Amino acid sequence: VAHRLHSTYTSTTSIIPTLHTPGRRCLATQAQQPTAAQESDDKRERVVILGSGWGGYTLSRRLSPKTFAPLIISPRSYFVFTPLLTNTASGSLDFSNIVEPVRDPRSKVNFIQGAARGVNLKKKTVLCEATVVKSGVTESPRTLEEHRGTEEGPETRNKQPMHPYLEWEQGEMFEVPYDKLVIAVGAVSRTFGTPGVRENAMFFKDIGDAKRVKRRLRECFELAVLPFTTPEMRKWLLSFAIVGAGPTGIELAASLRDFIYSDLMALYPSLNGIPKITLYDVAPKVLSMFDESLSRYAMETMKREGVDIKTSHHVKSLRWGVPGAPPPYHMDPKRCLTLTTEEDGELGVGMCVWVTGNAMPKFITESLDSVEEFPTDSIHSIEGSSPAPADAEKVSWKFKKAPKNGPLLVDGYLRVQLQNEKGQTAVLRDVFALGDNAMPEKGAPPATAQATSQEAKWLADRLNKNEVGKTPPFSFRDLGTMAYIGDERALMQIPHTGDRGASNFLPEGIKGRTASLIWKTAYISMSISWRNKLRVAFRWMLNKIFGRDISRF
Ligand code: FAD
Repeated sequence: VAHRLHSTYTSTTSIIPTLHTPGRRCLATQAQQPTAAQESDDKRERVVILGSGWGGYTLSRRLSPKTFAPLIISPRSYFVFTPLLTNTASGSLDFSNIVEPVRDPRSKVNFIQGAARGVNLKKKTVLCEATVVKSGVTESPRTLEEHRGTEEGPETRNKQPMHPYLEWEQGEMFEVPYDKLVIAVGAVSRTFGTPGVRENAMFFKDIGDAKRVKRRLRECFELAVLPFTTPEMRKWLLSFAIVGAGPTGIELAASLRDFIYSDLMALYPSLNGIPKITLYDVAPKVLSMFDESLSRYAMETMKREGVDIKTSHHVKSLRWGVPGAPPPYHMDPKRCLTLTTEEDGELGVGMCVWVTGNAMPKFITESLDSVEEFPTDSIHSIEGSSPAPADAEKVSWKFKKAPKNGPLLVDGYLRVQLQNEKGQTAVLRDVFALGDNAMPEKGAPPATAQATSQEAKWLADRLNKNEVGKTPPFSFRDLGTMAYIGDERALMQIPHTGDRGASNFLPEGIKGRTASLIWKTAYISMSISWRNKLRVAFRWMLNKIFGRDISRF
């Protein structure tokens, strides 16, 4: 351990060709300087945590600082309280109200702003790309990911040369040693390969996305009132499509609806009756994880509030330009996009937000695929037998994943597993995965913040007590599900804990204004810092008096 902590981060110019990213330019030429932590005589185990989201951030704060030296590596220098992200897009909260900085003088957690690009299980190192870019924009790796394509795989990657302004976003490469590694890089939005969606839709995972949605919404209103805007174009610009009627899609539609009707319409009285929000989903009902009666209540309430809900609708493509226009199609933010569905044909929209579910990021699908050198010393067991047999190195191994390039399959202790060509499974001793990028083989919890933070706390406690493999495996405890449906109404599904077991829900949960009050109280109390608990509570109160923030940055 001491040896690893003393080692410097090394420049990895020679490793660049193995990164499967044709044409990329390496900016690193000199060896990196050792950090203060590395120069110290720290004897604690270094836990490298990939990701600063619900999994990584929660785990880092819970690990015992006496035993472990946690180091978060993430392109994002902050944690986002995702359940309130929709509130920031609709001006109900400031963006700063829902983020927590990873660097915090009170915590003993170290941080490097970078993105993991590969893992060497034999050397126990992570290959990273620095993402501290000139402008301080932390979304740069996403921009690159989007350019190269993610879930659709290498064959669909954009073959065009990168736009010059993206070139400088490539960072220096360096290696970081670990004693224990925790992979919590989350998920990206699934587009199902729908033409034009990756390039033209807005996604909704991070602060940058929420800013873009708010800015575009305001932009569409300003474009709509320009004197030369035709009535037809006005109608298209003020049609907002949200694809995916799960909790995020529903809450986003509800929040934008509140914003438009309670705040924006007072500013644009001439546009009265024109703005329209439409929710699309292939499923026959919304909020499928809720009880039938709650799901029906959500649909009826939102329809009454003016949100058009189009279930059993299949989106076929999304492009810039007006309906019926011939190609070529060029991005023109001054005009509308065209969304095509199998059922309704072409429709002009000012913005389309895509929230249809999770796909794995390129780090999981490509970097964590085959294992170049079998890490015999790091194997806990193969098919239950420990230690690993000597001939295990002779066959080729891959990371074990759920079908169709799904999440990493982990065992009950969240340990990452490998699989060989004979179908045998090996469990890694010091590499763990949790959150949206991982799935326990038995009793997989839903991909939610609730489940992820439970996993992170559970793993930190097991590591602190050196109990991994010695206690019962992780099991998810369902604490209920909530969704805001607009006009101060919400739904709350309470898990049934009676005779029928935790998976059976009460036929009726709580709905309406009472549920909305519980929803607000719950999220104030769950916000991480006292600073943000108070900021959120005060902002919600101030909104009642002064309205939401309508600024467009
Ligand atoms: P994330 O929280 O997404 O964190 C992933 C982290 O990994 C990020 O910091 C990212 O920057 C970093 N990263 C990405 N690539 C790399 C890389 N190559 N190297 C290093 N770091 C990397 N769940 C609920 O339970 N209740 C809710 O109300 C709820 N509302 C939601 C609302 C929205 C808008 C969204 C998007 C999600 C919501 N969820 C909710 C789901 C919940 O946010 C996720 O399940 C949860 O964030 C998963 O945690 P995670 O740590 O796996 O991933």
